[in-house]
Amino acid sequence: MGKVYLTGAGPGDIELLTLKALKVIKEADVIIYDRLANPDILEEAKDGCEFVYVGKEDGKHIVPQDDINEVIYQNALKYENVVRLKGGDPFVFGRGGEEAIYLLERNIKFDIIPGITSAVSAPAYAGIPVTHRGVAVSFRVVTGHESPHKKESQIPWETFKTDDTIVFLMGLHNLPKISKKLMEIGKDSNYPCAVISKGTTKDQSVVVGTLSDIVEKAKDVPTPALIVVGKVVLLREQLKWFGENA
Ligand code: SAH
Repeated sequence: MGKVYLTGAGPGDIELLTLKALKVIKEADVIIYDRLANPDILEEAKDGCEFVYVGKEDGKHIVPQDDINEVIYQNALKYENVVRLKGGDPFVFGRGGEEAIYLLERNIKFDIIPGITSAVSAPAYAGIPVTHRGVAVSFRVVTGHESPHKKESQIPWETFKTDDTIVFLMGLHNLPKISKKLMEIGKDSNYPCAVISKGTTKDQSVVVGTLSDIVEKAKDVPTPALIVVGKVVLLREQLKWFGENA
């Protein structure tokens, strides 16, 4: 029986791959990968390594999570070194925990190899520090997938009144609802926010606005994209360093 490496691929820039991830990729017999993992990484694999794509397209799951779990398991029965490569960090909205539990229940050994999450690195490449002395003492990473108007929401919207930074992943399609909800709980309509698309890649684009105009400004932004809400966004003016609109 093989071992599975639940591996973070980083956010896009291939040089943000960890040395540990690179090592297991080079040794892999099979790599099971997602859309968000930069495909250039696969070129690092050895000859004869098998590639299995289990990504999503336009938000539609090509392969449901249960089937992905089973694909990983079946490959672990077949191969010695199985790499499950996921965008960013495997435990930040990556469902890596579910995959690990599935393997655990079937007595398959696994390692977790953290990756650089887009939640922090895309803002960094946009010149936005998620914390900053005197501006934000904490940051949260929140799913934007859930509609803010859902009854019995698990998201503690009322606690978002502070100036701490909020990063929404998977939230672009819900941006109108998210910005409206934040204004409903009392944030100013001029409160700063940004949308970062394809962060850390050569196609990175950044739109800066306020809760009241970000929807209009970001309406044509391609995915993957995340939303940063907070006064730290204003630091971009001084700190932008990367990409075309730097
Ligand atoms: N495990 C990943 C996140 C998976 S959820 C991580 O740690 O980064 C997928 C969401 O991540 C996308 O909907 C988008 O909001 C965000 N995302 C991933 N890569 C991104 C990138 N390069 N630029 C901007 N957002 C990105």
